[in-house]
Amino acid sequence: MASALREHRVVVIGAGVGGLVAALQLARRGLSVTLLEAADSPGGKMRQPLVDGAPIDSGPTVFTMRWIFEQIYASAGARLEDELQLTALPVLATHAWSPDERLDLFADPALSTDAIARFAGPVEANRFTQFCRQARAVYDTLEGPFIRSQAPTLTSMHGDLGLRGLAVLASLGPMRSLWGSLCRHFQDARLRQLFARYATYCGSSPWQAPATLMLVTQVELDGVWSVRGGMHALAQSLAGLAQRHGVTLRYGERVRQIEIDGTRTTGVLLASGERLAADSVVFNGDRSALGEGLLGDAARAAAAPVPPDQRSLSALTWSVHAPTAGFALERHNVFFQPDYRREFDDIFRHSRLPATPTVYVCAQDRGINEAAPERDRLLVLVNAPSAARRSLTEAEINACETHSFSLLRRHGLMVERTAQNTLRTTPADFQRMFPGSAGALYGMATHGWMSAFKRPGAASPIAGLYLAGGSVHPGPGVPMAAMSGQLAAATLMARLDSTSRSSRVRISGGTSMRSAMTAGMD
Ligand SMILES: Cc1cc2nc3c(=O)[nH]c(=O)nc-3n(C[C@H](O)[C@H](O)[C@H](O)COP(=O)(O)OP(=O)(O)OC[C@H]3O[C@@H](n4cnc5c(N)ncnc54)[C@H](O)[C@@H]3O)c2cc1C
Repeated sequence: MASALREHRVVVIGAGVGGLVAALQLARRGLSVTLLEAADSPGGKMRQPLVDGAPIDSGPTVFTMRWIFEQIYASAGARLEDELQLTALPVLATHAWSPDERLDLFADPALSTDAIARFAGPVEANRFTQFCRQARAVYDTLEGPFIRSQAPTLTSMHGDLGLRGLAVLASLGPMRSLWGSLCRHFQDARLRQLFARYATYCGSSPWQAPATLMLVTQVELDGVWSVRGGMHALAQSLAGLAQRHGVTLRYGERVRQIEIDGTRTTGVLLASGERLAADSVVFNGDRSALGEGLLGDAARAAAAPVPPDQRSLSALTWSVHAPTAGFALERHNVFFQPDYRREFDDIFRHSRLPATPTVYVCAQDRGINEAAPERDRLLVLVNAPSAARRSLTEAEINACETHSFSLLRRHGLMVERTAQNTLRTTPADFQRMFPGSAGALYGMATHGWMSAFKRPGAASPIAGLYLAGGSVHPGPGVPMAAMSGQLAAATLMARLDSTSRSSRVRISGGTSMRSAMTAGMD
């Protein structure tokens, strides 16, 4: 039986978190899996370039929803805590509006409430408690019917939510935006701004994102962990686990074409000219790459490209290894400017870099260590328009860099940057690294109440071709992309199962290879 499953050859294209999880799940069920990755290491956006000799996480830095990874590791017979060293951060993030206005959010909600009471008064602290209650209810309502569901539609959601769930969503107000909802919750503009920023975790504007995105706040309030070795260590660990389960990992291999015979995937053609036959293919790159024909004309039908005006945020980042002074950095630091709306108007309406950017700084050796390092490893990030909207000029990028670092200086944070200790990454660089993405780091923006239903699910219209990653359901972010990998593996296995059932009916009394494939599935 097991040998019949091994005869089913799967090629996974891309070792982003979605591809790694899909490969792991399929291999542990006995399929023969080869994972092809264009870069020279796993992780995709979870990359960790060396800057001035120091490895710096230069993609995702906020590790949340630990339970998703606990389940993934457990399903593969491993324990997350044995494979990776995770430490819960006592301070989730610090937020600064000026040198005298600073607010920390804590892992302990009571500490956050106290901090908000000191910062904005007891009435706002009360409102924070009510906001958390609503965010929790929204999260609990949507986790099953949306996040864990294969490909939710408005109709399926209606059925799955039940009266209670529908009541929770109705309480948000019909069609209200996240910003609109926050205005009802908080009087203090700084608190609106702080919680609105969670829309950017999905690459979206708080003014266009639905109020349901408040669930992202809940995700963070549920805990943020530091990963020893950085987020890239998670990718390395998943790759190691996949290998232990028999996945063949090949780095430095770009797939040029997905081969399709009529309506069915038959394999892939590598940039090297090598051909690999496959019964199924899981594509973990940006889904727009398929629609744009970057994987061959025949694969265009697999997924439509995201229109330029629906692409998510991109970013302008600086990975820095330098001495810092003047500001007591936590692991996650956010430096706000007063006119938040202008930032999103600049990006989404005018397709330009924000004149007054919010600056996020991840100080990768802070938060759990007692002593500040001699030189900090920083990821500094500002939101930017995707390259699909417009190419940015060098002068614009330089001006944004000047604004961003002078904002940090105004808050007291001095960073001793040089050309040698700083690596800059622009939307065009992201586009080069992640073909088809146009530098939009989160696929399609979650703008409007229907946008969440517009992401394709794991099954594509082409037989044998499946999709995984942040540009498909359930959406962007490391845990969500991991979930998409699970969904792709489950969809593929379910198709094998149903095929085996129908062949069992056809070949009555005989033992077919397909019937053996059902063995070991859960
Ligand atoms: C700067 C930045 C900050 C972020 N911050 C956070 C955060 O704090 N928390 C969070 O949860 N998320 C964050 N995200 C989002 C998160 O990183 C992504 O949603 C997630 O990592 C996407 O994973 P994925 O499975 O879609 O694969 P990706 O990471 O997109 O990787 C896809 C892989 O496929 C490979 N590939 C593509 N085409 C081919 C081909 N033809 N042949 C071979 N290989 C191919 C690529 O080389 C790449 O390695 C951030 C992203 C960025 C860039």
